[in-house]
Amino acid sequence: MSRRRIAKKVEEIQPSGIRKFFDLVIGRDDIISLGVGEPDFSVPWRIREEMIYSLEKGYTSYTSNYGLPELREGIAEYYTKFGVGVEPEQVIVTSGVSEGIDLALRTLIDLGDAVLIPEPCYVSYKPLTHLCGGEAIPIPTNPDFKLNYERIRDCVHEKAKVLLLNYPTNPTGVSYSRKELEEIADAVIEFDLIVISDEIYAELTYKGRHISIASLSGMEDRVVILNGFSKAFAMTGFRVGYAIAPYDILQGMLKVHQYCMLCAPITGQIGAIEALKSIDEVEKMRAEYLRRRNYFIKRLKEVFEVNMPDGTFYAFPNITLTGMSSEEFAERLLMEKGVAVVPGNAFGECGEGYIRAAFAVKFDKLKEAAERITEFAEKYGKG
Ligand code: PLP
Repeated sequence: MSRRRIAKKVEEIQPSGIRKFFDLVIGRDDIISLGVGEPDFSVPWRIREEMIYSLEKGYTSYTSNYGLPELREGIAEYYTKFGVGVEPEQVIVTSGVSEGIDLALRTLIDLGDAVLIPEPCYVSYKPLTHLCGGEAIPIPTNPDFKLNYERIRDCVHEKAKVLLLNYPTNPTGVSYSRKELEEIADAVIEFDLIVISDEIYAELTYKGRHISIASLSGMEDRVVILNGFSKAFAMTGFRVGYAIAPYDILQGMLKVHQYCMLCAPITGQIGAIEALKSIDEVEKMRAEYLRRRNYFIKRLKEVFEVNMPDGTFYAFPNITLTGMSSEEFAERLLMEKGVAVVPGNAFGECGEGYIRAAFAVKFDKLKEAAERITEFAEKYGKG
């Protein structure tokens, strides 16, 4: 009898729908890629300089499992900006938010526990839930893409333990006001949930200021905040993120982290310490993303229905007027016009009929991409 080589759980998850399009464009200079959510800026020079200097000094070792003390202190101090009082002891440095999501889920989810996931959502949430034996319960949020009390109430069941929230949201750009967060917090308390709050785009908020759900009353013991340096500081390659959690949950996450990762890379951690002192650099990048957002959404509105993103660097237009599915649209746009975007269904079923286009490319390229996309839509649009 032949034995299964690949574990059933792994067989059951699908490869990321984003990577598929990423692989198609590698090495093709003629294609404008609005596919991957990767800042087009280089890491600000003073951050790079600190990292180079640290290598010259020979800082190449493991760090404490928790992360460098100076970084944990810096993160605790930094988070007061989003309204949350944090002790450095509540912080664990991870290898990107990707690891933080995995650690939080593995720490909180027993076999059969359920995780509420507002959709459309970031691609890793459902597969990682599945890998730790949890059941993902999608909460469809279209057409406005906002989570609210009713939508939670309509999907929650007795096995639901965690709400996996992400705002500003990848792929829709939606964010929340204090009042809207209070409504979500009411549901969290009523249904006795723990929130994993992925705030990786907090710095890229254009409408008002980012407010962490952890800052609301009644949430003190119920929220695991995840954040990191990939998006705001353009440090994707250095793999530094962090989790801020109630002490018991943090200790659980630390155990998983000790065995699966040991620590985040030291060079990235040293860069992250400098990054927290370089918020003016983030401001410059944010201003440029805002300029691009305003231009790009205006252009897309000429042909599609599209919401103005409150944050992130993603546009999520509705492409149903072309009569194509999301996949067909993305494939044909790539073949016929040389622009790569991600089909909306990569982010959950209710993303069907949409595409995600990242405005994380230089302005000239964005202009050219907008030109090609509008031409394409006009050619096939039935409206
Ligand atoms: N969470 C969200 C919502 C993201 O969009 C991404 C990356 O695109 C990540 C997490 C992963 O980030 P990191 O590079 O910190 O692992």
